[in-house]
Parts: sequence; C-alpha cells; structure tokens
Amino acid sequence: MHPPPSDAAARRAAKPLVCYEVEQLPPNNLSLYRQARSGASKVDEILVPPRDGACFEVAAGRFFRIVSVDGPQVGDLNLWNAKDLSERFFSGKTRQLHATHVSTGDRLWSTLPGLRPLATIIEDSLDWYGWDEDGAGVHDVIGTRCDPYTNCLLKSVEYHHCCHSNLTRALAAATGLPLEQAETHVHDVMNVFMCTGFTRDTQQYFMKASPVRPGDFIEVFAEIDLLGALSTCPGGDCGSSHSDDKTPCYPLKVEIYEPAAGALQAWRSPARSAYSRSHGVRD
Ligand SMILES: [Zn+2]
Repeated sequence: MHPPPSDAAARRAAKPLVCYEVEQLPPNNLSLYRQARSGASKVDEILVPPRDGACFEVAAGRFFRIVSVDGPQVGDLNLWNAKDLSERFFSGKTRQLHATHVSTGDRLWSTLPGLRPLATIIEDSLDWYGWDEDGAGVHDVIGTRCDPYTNCLLKSVEYHHCCHSNLTRALAAATGLPLEQAETHVHDVMNVFMCTGFTRDTQQYFMKASPVRPGDFIEVFAEIDLLGALSTCPGGDCGSSHSDDKTPCYPLKVEIYEPAAGALQAWRSPARSAYSRSHGVRD
C-alpha cells in the first residue's frame, strides 16, 4: 500500500456534494396521481409463482401494485417501453437522481436517449423502514439481479431459476422473441422489497432478511405504455442464500388499476429528452 501524503487529512475533508439536486427535476404530479388512484378500479391481476417470472402490460395512466402474498418474498423488476424495448429502466441514473433505495415520489427513469420517467412510485407500505443501523434500506436500485453466469463463476454449478433467467423466460414468452434475443433486453433491476446496503468496513453490497410481510405492497403509476417483468427471487426474503433451491420462496401478485374516466384529462405522458443528440458533431 502507498503511504498517505502529508495533506491526506485535508484531502479527505473535502465536502461531499450531492451530484443532482432532486428539486431540479420536473414536479412529480404525486397529488394528481393519488387523486386518480382513489377512484380507480382493478382491471387485471397476475400471480408470479415462486422462483419464476411473469410479464404484465400497464397502459400509460394506469397503476400497478406489487403485493406480497403468503410469505416474505423479494421481487426483481424490469420495465420497458411497451412499444420499443430499447427504452428500458435505467437503474444507474435513477440511483443518481434519487437515491440507492427508492420510495414514494421517486421516479423510475428510462435509458438514454429517452431519459424520461417510465413510472412514479405513489405508495410504499414499507416506507416506515427508512435506514436501519446496518445502513440498509428497502427497494434498492444498486443490485443487478441474481444470474446463472455469476453463480457458475462462483459455484461452478448450473442453476436455472435465478432472476436473470426468470426474467428472460418471461420476456421470451410474452414477446415471442427467441430466448437469446429476449435475454439481451433483460437489464439491471429495481429490487422490490429487498433490504440491502453496503458494509461500513469494506463497502461490499450486502442483503438481509426483508421486512416485507403478506399484505405489504408498492404501487407505481405508469407514465408511458409499459411492459413489465417481475421475478420472484430464488433467495425468498434474501435473508440467507440465493441462486439455489434451499430457501423458502413465495409468489408475488401484480394488480393493475385503471382510474375513472376523465380523472387524468389534463395529464400527458412525458416526452423523451429534448437533447439534440448532436454530441458536438452536428450543429
Ligand atoms: Zn434474484
């Protein structure tokens, strides 16, 4: 290890600066969405079996609620523009614009060059959790998803029910794409109900048993026409192991709600980013 310079303490004392001020974002319309939600009715329901995945469609202006049923279970969520799979959830930018863990009022942003809200979180029954003494919170956008490649690398075994594979199978089934093509659209997830953080001493990503219990839910407003995919992680509540069949796992339910006619009359889907895409090459 290199010796610290004589001014190491002064260099370390530089003040942290939040990169993006959330106040600079366009307002999140939360009160309008909640008002629309109060008169909404359920139009569809999907049950994702344990250690599996399923897709669901949510038209712009509708809501989807992910509900814990039967037992504590973590879900890995992917979101796409239903009309263009190349525009999808951008966990990295969502993390930078909001935080490592998301909750009510936060938006789930799309990849460049779209960079617009795909969805807005309108309610989260686990918002009481906040940050615990380990520095962990719920619903992270820092983990990627459990996958068979990492599992193979670390354990030299083939396991086919990792979230990556569950999402891949679900997307292939929903779109008719060949498995290999569907896989390329699977992306870094929002870890619904998962309780995670970074260890204080080594800064390693850790998980602990999720505080989610049956009846808990997170609900989201669809800002554009969405195709979603949800995997019930083979880690169950992610309190012990993952990427195997040892842990108890439970289903997750996705409910779709439609507001009453006229409830969102003045509302419009957000447009893609207005940036010219010239990148300094064209005027
Ligand atoms: Zn998983």
